[in-house]
Amino acid sequence: MHETGVSRIEDAPRISGCGPILSASAAPSRPLRQQIFESVRAAGRSARADVTRNLGISAGSATTLSAELIAAGFLREVEGLTREAGRGRPPVALEVVPDARLVIGIKLSDALHTAVLTDFAGTVLANASQPTPDHRKSVENILTEVSDLIAALLANADRSLSEVSAIGAGLSGLIDHNTGMVLWSPLLDQRDLPLGPALQQRFGLPVFLDNDANMLTLAELWFGAGRARSDFAVVTIEEGVGMGVVLGNRLFRGSRGIGLELGHTKVQLDGALCRCGQRGCLEAYVADYALAREAATALGRNAHNLQSASVMLDKLFAQAKAGNVSARTIFRRAGRYLSLGLANVVQLFDPELIILSGERMQYDYLYAEEVMAEMRALILADGREPCPVEIHAWGDLVWARGASALALSAVTDMALGEGWAG
Ligand SMILES: [Zn+2]
Repeated sequence: MHETGVSRIEDAPRISGCGPILSASAAPSRPLRQQIFESVRAAGRSARADVTRNLGISAGSATTLSAELIAAGFLREVEGLTREAGRGRPPVALEVVPDARLVIGIKLSDALHTAVLTDFAGTVLANASQPTPDHRKSVENILTEVSDLIAALLANADRSLSEVSAIGAGLSGLIDHNTGMVLWSPLLDQRDLPLGPALQQRFGLPVFLDNDANMLTLAELWFGAGRARSDFAVVTIEEGVGMGVVLGNRLFRGSRGIGLELGHTKVQLDGALCRCGQRGCLEAYVADYALAREAATALGRNAHNLQSASVMLDKLFAQAKAGNVSARTIFRRAGRYLSLGLANVVQLFDPELIILSGERMQYDYLYAEEVMAEMRALILADGREPCPVEIHAWGDLVWARGASALALSAVTDMALGEGWAG
C-alpha cells in the first residue's frame, strides 16, 4: 500500500544485541604500521619519539614497526633534526622514501585537462595540461585525450608509466566512486558510462574516479587549509556549483554517489530552469549559464547569438565595475542566492570553515561583505561565533593535486594496509 516508497515500521525490530553493526570494510581501521607511516608523512620529518607521542604507542612498537617500514623501503632515516644544546649526535628523523610510489592525478574539464605526477611524500614532480575541444565526448575520446596528457606528463618528468602505481581522476557530474561509473557528467555524451574501468583497462593501473568538487576538497585536506581541521566544507563555483564535505577528517561521500550536490538543492519551488532539467536549483541562480542568461538581456544581446558564458560574464563584470546598475543587480542577486546556499550548509553541517573556490571567485560581488552578512543573518546560531569563510582562487593544478591525493590514499592502503607484503 505504500506506493510513495516510504515504509512504515510498525513494530520495533526484533534483533538481539545493540549498537551499530558494521562490517570490517565499512569501519576501516588502519594497521599501526600504516598509522606510523602516515604520521611521518604528515609531519614531513619526524623523530621516533614524536611518532610515539603522537600515536600514544610504546617506544618498542614504534621502533619495531618503523624498522619494518624502513626494511620495506617506505621510510628512511635522515639526520634532519636540530641538535639540542649543540652536543652529541644530531637526532635521527624518519621521512618517507619519495620514490617508493608514484601516482598521477588528473582534472578533466571542458576546455583544458590537467595532470600532475606526485611522489609518495606528496611532492609534485611534474605537471602537464592539454586543451580540449569544448563539446561532449565519448569514453573513447576521453581515453585518447588522457593518453596524450599522460604521455606529456611522463615526458616532462622523464619517467615511464611502469613507475606509476595508480591514477586518480576527477570530473564534474555524478560519479560513483566505488565503481568508477559516471552516472552523468557535462563532459560526456551519454549517461551511465564506465569511465573508471575503461581508464583502468587502457593504462593497466588502478584508477580512482571522483567528482571534481571532492578532488578539490581532498586537495584542501591533504595539502591546504583543511589539514588541521576535522570538519569543513568546500563550495566550488565554476560552470556549476559543487561541494565537498569533510566530517571527522574523512571525505564524506554519501551512499550512492548523488550526495552533496549543493548546486541542485532547491532554493525556489518552481523557480528558474536548471541545466539538470529541474527547476529552482541553486545553480540556476548562481552558475555561469544562469548569469549569462541574464547578462544577454542586460547587455542587450541577441539571446540566439550568445557568446560563450565566460566571455559574456567578463563583459557583465566589467559593466558592473563601471557602474552599470542592472549588471550589478545581476551579480548581487546571484550573491544573495549564494548566501542562502551557504547558510544552509552551515545549518546542516556546522563546519569549522567554509572554503569558497573556483574560477568565479574573480567576481567579487559573489562574496562581498553584504553577501557574507546576509549568510550570517540566515543562520540560527544562537550567539555562537559565525562560521568563517575563506576564498581560495586555486588553479586547475590544485584540483589535479587533489586527484593525486585520491590515488595516494588508495596506494597507501594497498601498500601498507591489507596488501602489506613487507
Ligand atoms: Zn539542477
